[in-house]
Amino acid sequence: MPQVLDGNAVRDQIKAELRSRIDLLRDRFRTPGLAVVLVGDDPASSIYVRNKIKTCEELGIYSEAIRPSAAITTEELLAIVESLNQRSDIDGILVQMPLPRQVDSKRVLDAILPQKDVDGFHPLNVGLLSIGAPGPRSCTPAGVIQILKRHNISMQGAEAVVVGRSDIVGKPMAMMLIHESATVTVCHSRTRDLAEVCSRADILIAAIGRPAFLHDAHIKHGAVVIDVGINRITDRAEAERIWQGNAAKLAQFEAKGSLLVGDVNPNSMETRASAYTPVPGGVGPLTIAMLMVNAVGLAEQHACHFGIKLDD
Ligand code: NDP
Repeated sequence: MPQVLDGNAVRDQIKAELRSRIDLLRDRFRTPGLAVVLVGDDPASSIYVRNKIKTCEELGIYSEAIRPSAAITTEELLAIVESLNQRSDIDGILVQMPLPRQVDSKRVLDAILPQKDVDGFHPLNVGLLSIGAPGPRSCTPAGVIQILKRHNISMQGAEAVVVGRSDIVGKPMAMMLIHESATVTVCHSRTRDLAEVCSRADILIAAIGRPAFLHDAHIKHGAVVIDVGINRITDRAEAERIWQGNAAKLAQFEAKGSLLVGDVNPNSMETRASAYTPVPGGVGPLTIAMLMVNAVGLAEQHACHFGIKLDD
């Protein structure tokens, strides 16, 4: 039986560790502050933002939601970011993606001060990651590294294959694995023989956005499989294809009318991997936890800037 890598447990550990750092900041500096800008009322984005704010409240981080209308212009949004850049009580600024079509997302993201870039998307912070210097890191790949480390899965010298080359998951994931001394290969939609490359992996990381796309042929026996994908299945025939023979899952699908699946076929992970992250309950829970790690890290940097010592 493969080991199921429990993302909820790792998230809880990380949150517990943050509490003492937040207490120290509150004692010696001030409460860390996170501003979340949510444009419009997209239901999925509203849920993400609500969960982020709820986690701030749980941990004692000050949070503020700014909710401009979907008709906002780039200039108006830039003005909001600028005013948050100036606020001394705000350590991290997050602009929830996607933004409406009329807004220049890149200009808005680049306007967030690198010292307040809680998502780790600013080019300067991407550069810090590439040279291995401290700074806020893209949350989802940082969460994957935590899952691997906290389950004592050695990355050093391992063949790691990352499928996906997005700026927020695939590329930073590859960079983080390089810093952990893995031998890294990155695949994408133009990769010639995906199964051949993936099946070399000791650690296979899927960040594609295609339901149950990788299967037996992509997974070496005994590989560790990290499934970053989150895809909602609403089609019955597709559910039957993915969970064939799994009566419990199909009953869940019947009851709910939809189910989440990752980018890797769950049955293939079960039969071929030595360890894997389930969907849901694997990588997903780590993303917000790592956002909190970034927010606290930025607040510590700000305290340091004012000459406040946090280590005794
Ligand atoms: P993007 O759509 O930005 O990137 C997808 C990548 O997959 C691209 O690099 C693309 O290649 C590659 N790809 C697409 N089709 C294929 C194919 N047939 N063969 C090989 N590679 C392919 O997605 P994201 O990186 O933003 O997200 C990836 C997945 O992770 C999604 O399911 C998303 O929902 C999930 N996600 C989960 C998070 C979490 O908290 N757990 C957070 C963020 C994302 P190319 O560049 O050539 O087009």
